[in-house]
Amino acid sequence: AWAKVPMGPPDAILGISEKFKASTNAKKMNLGVGAYRDDAGRPFLLPSVRKAENALAQMNLDKEYAPITGIPVFRELATRLAYGDEVYESIAERLVSAQSLSGTGALRVAAAVLAKFYEPSSTIYVSNPTWGNHNNVFSAAGLAVQSYRYYDPKTHMLDAQGMLADLEDMPDRSIVLLHACAHNPTGVDPTPEQWDDILRVVRTKNHFVLMDMAYQGFASGNPARDGFAPRLFAEMNVPMMLCQSFAKNMGLYGERVGCFSMLAASAEEAARLESQVKIIIRGLYSNPPVHGARIAARILGDPELRTQWHQDIETMSTRIRDMRALLRSHLEDTFHSAHDWSHITSQIGMFCYTGLNPAQVDKLTRDLARVFDP
Ligand code: PMP
Repeated sequence: AWAKVPMGPPDAILGISEKFKASTNAKKMNLGVGAYRDDAGRPFLLPSVRKAENALAQMNLDKEYAPITGIPVFRELATRLAYGDEVYESIAERLVSAQSLSGTGALRVAAAVLAKFYEPSSTIYVSNPTWGNHNNVFSAAGLAVQSYRYYDPKTHMLDAQGMLADLEDMPDRSIVLLHACAHNPTGVDPTPEQWDDILRVVRTKNHFVLMDMAYQGFASGNPARDGFAPRLFAEMNVPMMLCQSFAKNMGLYGERVGCFSMLAASAEEAARLESQVKIIIRGLYSNPPVHGARIAARILGDPELRTQWHQDIETMSTRIRDMRALLRSHLEDTFHSAHDWSHITSQIGMFCYTGLNPAQVDKLTRDLARVFDP
């Protein structure tokens, strides 16, 4: 039956992880996948998460199914975190939300709703470049994917003019994907003034915004500050959806904790939209897992754990900044590289957009392997 199935290419990011696992070099280091590591190169279980799990263990909770849209208190706390209490209060009665299978699952639900119901377009515009999986997720749901200008490789900065021009040139009421903060892969975010410009064009053109927020807290170390864009757009009543992930900011990667939300024009519209979101989720995976969402809800809802969590984010974001400074100073001072490496420290978040091409990366992988293991 499967004789005609061709071999597919390995995933660009997870493919590297597979090669990494296969390597027997003791000094190997995986710089491909976006997962935080401590000084010893190990995964980091956040103290706030450990405490929340201990508290949950004492509670002897059952393992019954969650509702289709997940654990209600989780949805409220997650969306409050994203939109901020003030904006949340003003939109709560027309906000539709659903706990999701992390950020990817939220994007998949968003794409399914858009593909099924959004008029007049089924094309989504993503930044050039963007997270590799966006294309995959959106096409799987039946959306066509195009891109707008975003990164200027010459300046290593935002091509603000190009981006705004492309937003202008799209048909009215286009679907636009925006990274809320800590843009993956470039680490280049719009400034608050540039967000205002983006907002202005989006409103004049009546575009629909799909906001992807996978790194709230990782850009500035402060979740409230990183929520600037979704708060601004929701406050201005831009028609939008938001996809949150707790993979990075709570280190809950494999627990798959996320939240999908969308802003309706009225409570009545919200009820209709929610009914359709439920039908879509029921057909995709029925209902989400409970454990990770319980951890996140516990952390967000308990003042002591929440303070601990803010410290944990501070720990991670400070270390990331320190590593950027160290990498840059080693390249410049230890290796006397004449190349301009200032983007290593000016970029934000977990990723370093090196500007290296695939051939250079292959060479690094090969040559370093030899240096470490001659
Ligand atoms: N969006 C972006 C921009 C990301 O970088 C990621 C994680 N790499 C995600 C969404 C989703 O990740 P997850 O499904 O693990 O939450």
